[in-house]
Order: sequence, then C-alpha cells, then structure tokens
Amino acid sequence: MSTSVPPTIKEDLNLNHIVSTQFDKAAALTKYDEGLLGQIKACNNIYTFHFPVKVGGKIRMFQGWRAEHSHHRKPLKGGLRFAAEVDENEVMALAALMTYKCALVNVPFGGSKGGVRIDTYREDDETIEAVARRFTFELAHKNFIGPGTNVPAPDMGTGEREMAWIADTYQAIHHGDLNSLACVTGKPVSQGGIHGRTEATGRGVYYGIREVCEDEDVMQKLGMQMGVAGKTISVQGFGNVGYHAARILQHEGGAKIIAIGEYNGTVYDPNGIDVDALHAHKLKTGYVQNFPGAQDLPTSGDSLEIECDILIPAALENQITLENASKVKAKIVGEAANGPTTPGAEQVLFDRGIYVVPDIYLNAGGVTVSYFEWTKNISHMRFGRMSKRFDQARDERYISLMERMSGKPLTEARRERLAEGADEIDLVRSGLENTMSDAYKEMRAAMKENDQIHDLRTAAYVVSISKVATTYNQMGIFP
Ligand code: GLU
Repeated sequence: MSTSVPPTIKEDLNLNHIVSTQFDKAAALTKYDEGLLGQIKACNNIYTFHFPVKVGGKIRMFQGWRAEHSHHRKPLKGGLRFAAEVDENEVMALAALMTYKCALVNVPFGGSKGGVRIDTYREDDETIEAVARRFTFELAHKNFIGPGTNVPAPDMGTGEREMAWIADTYQAIHHGDLNSLACVTGKPVSQGGIHGRTEATGRGVYYGIREVCEDEDVMQKLGMQMGVAGKTISVQGFGNVGYHAARILQHEGGAKIIAIGEYNGTVYDPNGIDVDALHAHKLKTGYVQNFPGAQDLPTSGDSLEIECDILIPAALENQITLENASKVKAKIVGEAANGPTTPGAEQVLFDRGIYVVPDIYLNAGGVTVSYFEWTKNISHMRFGRMSKRFDQARDERYISLMERMSGKPLTEARRERLAEGADEIDLVRSGLENTMSDAYKEMRAAMKENDQIHDLRTAAYVVSISKVATTYNQMGIFP
C-alpha cells in the first residue's frame, strides 16, 4: 500500500477514514468512472433517532442511528450494535463495510448498520428490552426496517434475545404480514431463526483461514507449512465471534490456540488452551483470568503481540494501529472483527511481510447465514425438509447396489452414516463453506488478473466494487 502522506495517529483511527482509504486504493485500480465510484462510495442515508424509554416509572432519552450505505440491492442488511461508544461516524463506516462484504460473498443485499448508545454492562434487562422494542418502533415508523427494505441482525452488544424482541415488536405493528419474521435475522431457532447462525461468523473465520492455509503460493511466500493443523493462534476477543472461531479452529482445524485476549486482560499458554474449558471457566467466574495452567497478561493488547503463526483480532475496530503494528509477531493477521487494522498499521504489516486477511472477507460468515435465514423466512420452510428423506432413500439404493456388486455388505453404522440425508445445520455449514471458498478464489483470481494488486484487502475491494458497479450500471440512474 502506498500512502504518499502518512496519516496522523488520530486520523488513522477514524473508521470512516479507514474504510474510505481502503476503498480509494482499490477504486484507483478499477476501470470505472469517477462518478460511478462516487456513487458506490457514498453513504446514501443516515437517520438519527432520539427516543424516550420509560423504565421503573422514569423517562430516559436514548440516541440511535441506522445508516443505509447502498441501495443497489434490496433489502439492506447489517447488524445493530448496542454499545456505550457507538456514534454516527462508526455506524456509517460499518454500513459501508456491509455493502462490500455482501458483494464479495455474493449475498444479494445492500449494506446497512445501526447502533444505539447504551452501556449494556450497566443497564438491566428490563431497560435493554424497552430500548430494543422502542427503537424497533422508531425504525418501523421511518421505514428503516422490514423484510424487503432493511433487515437488522446481531452485532456487538446484541444477540438472539434482542433479535427476538425486534421481531416480536415488528410483528405487533405489522399484524398479518406473512413475511414479517424476515424483518430481522439472528433470531432464536424457535422464533424463525436458523440452525448455525450463532456460530456462523466464527465458522466463516475458520473456513477463510483454512483457504489461506491451503493456498500453496501464500504458504510458500510466508515460509509456512500447508494446512491449519498445528498452527499457533492468538485470538483477541472471546465473545460470540472469537469464541466460536477459536473453538472450531481447535476442534475441526487442529490448530493450537495459545492466547485469548479479553477487554480486561489476556490468558496465555504456549502449550495450547482448551477453548471449551476456558469458555466454561469464563461462564463460571465471569472472567478468562486465573485459568488453570495459563499465564495472565495484564491487557487485551497483549494478545496482539504474542509470537504466533496467526493473529485473529475478533473484538473491536482500531486494534492494530501505528502504535503497535511493529510489535505484531504473527505471519498472518485474520480480521474477524470489523476494521481492526488501521491503514497506517496495515502499511507497517505489509512492509514486514505479514499477510492480512481482510474483514470484509473473513467475517462475512455472519451475514451469509443471515441470508440463509432470511431466505428460510420468506420461503416459510426449513432447509432440508423436502429433500432429506428422498436423498436418504436414493443413497440407500446406491449402497445396496454397491454391496451387491462387491459382495461386501457394510456395517449398519456405516450404512447409516453414508445415507444420512442433510439436516438444516448440514446445509447451512456446507453453504457457508462453499461461499467462503468461492470468495477466496475470486479474490485470488483478481490478484492474478491485475499485477498492481498486492494484498488481499485490495483484491477484496476490487471484486466488491466491480459487482456493485455492474449492478448500478445495469440499473441506470432514475432520472
Ligand atoms: N453484524 C454482523 C456483521 O457485521 C452480521 C450482519 C448480518 O447478519 O446482517 O457482519
């Protein structure tokens, strides 16, 4: 990456500046005209809400935002963040990332994002519920939520519970709307959610890292062995994304998780941490610290400076900055969070030969499975319901034929496994795996086509821009 004027530390930390710098760098390598690129880059609308909530007899004012970055595809899609520090600038930048993310992984949505300024660590459940419901009401009144317009999802500080409140409130307003459950994704399975949505972002991180580790060119350049197995990994963040990513990398990839950072410190064990046991320890004690056999390091930032093969920032934006980029001791940085690396820091990593796997690719698993959930809601049927029995019966016929031809009958257990038939979770995982694999191939193909693309992030943006541009070009501009 070549930035002629180095950014100041403060400018480098601004998320809008980060996304805009990343976009401009890639846009300069495309053939599209300036006007069209400007249209793609601009955030179409942002609405600020000030709304009252009455809890315990008292009226309190809250502030929230919903940004709609791009309407090139509808509905618009993106998470809803409940956090003490959220602001308009952050929400707009995150909405832009959603547009590029969806385009890259071929999820047919425009990008959006929302936020409510609320400290979920200090507020009680009653207040959080009242805020979630009232904000949904506000969104509905301004047409910022709906199955065909704008579909929120979990993000930092929100999860299944909040999505269930949102769906319930929306349904109360839109009584009789057959598709109303598709107004939000990330719902509990019993409320129209889909199996595998909770783990989806973390699972996508695993599939994405696996693609990189199976890329012979990349592994050779980095001087690393092929495959995820045995790789040492440090993860910053042990929330929904970090936990599932670490768990699946360990269980299915055979990686060695040597450090986990939380907001108040890092646990480190060079021999490997049992992720499930650490999770149980956190549920029991409230913290990751004092985990038997592991060493406690004082800050969250310590997890970024551990010597390892792969570093996975899975918490907040602005974590790898001009101040600590030179201390990163990993060969690969896999961005599970949105915007964890600033442009200034990225240049430092690039110069040091560190391979950055960009957020708009690596954390796209969440929105991909949200797309599956939305599709399930508007089709009103669970995936696999029509085909499972049919597939099973057909596979059983093939197996019987093979047994007759070979004269070697299979054991009952083997037979059952081979003729299993896919459940919803199997289809979701395989759809996600395929999505992550295809998107990786598209980025690598873009790099091969254009020798001015030297990093995966620029490749990701080039692919995204070309998809959004194609859609806009085909639509034309409404006069
Ligand atoms: N909040 C997640 C993200 O940043 C998921 C968005 C969605 O599922 O719509 O990608």
